[in-house]
Amino acid sequence: MQRRRLKGWLAVAAGAAALAFAALPFGFSELLMASAVAGVDIMPAAANPAQFLPRPGKAAGVVVDGHWRVEQIAPGTWAIGEPANDPDNYEYLLVGTRRALLIDSGATREHDLARVVAGLTPLPVTVIPSHLHYDHTNGLGHFRNIALVDLPETRARADSNQVQLGRYQYQRWSPVAFTVSEWIRPGARIDLGGRSVMVLSTPGHTTSSVSIWEPAGKRLYTGDFLYPTTLYAFVPDASLSTYVETINRLLAMLPPDARLYGAHCCRNDAPPQAPWLSASDLADTRTAIQRIEAGELESRGVIIRRFPVNQRMTMLTLYPLANR
Ligand SMILES: [Zn+2]
Repeated sequence: MQRRRLKGWLAVAAGAAALAFAALPFGFSELLMASAVAGVDIMPAAANPAQFLPRPGKAAGVVVDGHWRVEQIAPGTWAIGEPANDPDNYEYLLVGTRRALLIDSGATREHDLARVVAGLTPLPVTVIPSHLHYDHTNGLGHFRNIALVDLPETRARADSNQVQLGRYQYQRWSPVAFTVSEWIRPGARIDLGGRSVMVLSTPGHTTSSVSIWEPAGKRLYTGDFLYPTTLYAFVPDASLSTYVETINRLLAMLPPDARLYGAHCCRNDAPPQAPWLSASDLADTRTAIQRIEAGELESRGVIIRRFPVNQRMTMLTLYPLANR
């Protein structure tokens, strides 16, 4: 009888622990949002902080409207940085002969990215958010044509074409609402006239994250899935196992000399420029995650933990059970 009761209590305790772990990303997300408003940094420092600190104000390119840094990275292709942001945001503009595609809308509502884009091309512009966090969607209100990846979860957020972001999708208070003008299935191509890109579903940082692949230029725009400095793998819909699955898929399709342009800055081993990485950095990220899951990698921090990935990256995550 007593044994059965003990078993019952153990089951309750195990259930409570599992629930606590499942709730951890949400709790931490709330803490992070509150700390951002209070201006307090709650992240564990890197072992070699000087190496991983973002370098605000050091972006390359031409200053526009006192906020943006515009750097041409290839013909018809611009990186648009926001060095005042922390960590520095980067948006990318790809211009074809008929239309242009803007990847991400900017971290700010005050400064108008549409004006910068209009200074670079007279063609119609479609903006596609790499994912739905505030620092990638805040500028959507400045654009008329908005494309969104067509996934069950993004459709579930849409009332006809009006999308209302959830608190944890957006990651800050007062989410923006926007109207989708074009739903794009994962794997679909977008023809810009004379150049075409493919929209890839690349979950890991969030479940509805996309990357944009331009085979002709061997450039992959990875959003927050991969960028130099610190990867955020602790948010409520981040997942370490999904990270690995996406990396496997990307490594199988990318040429070894592809450049992976991320949405945050900067490479510590390169002069100030748009943040890019290589396929080998993907492989390093996979190795790091496998070692995190095997308990082989040393971390800093207690609840949220910072793990080294390589010379250019660290990764922040909760316990593997919380960010499965
Ligand atoms: Zn971001």
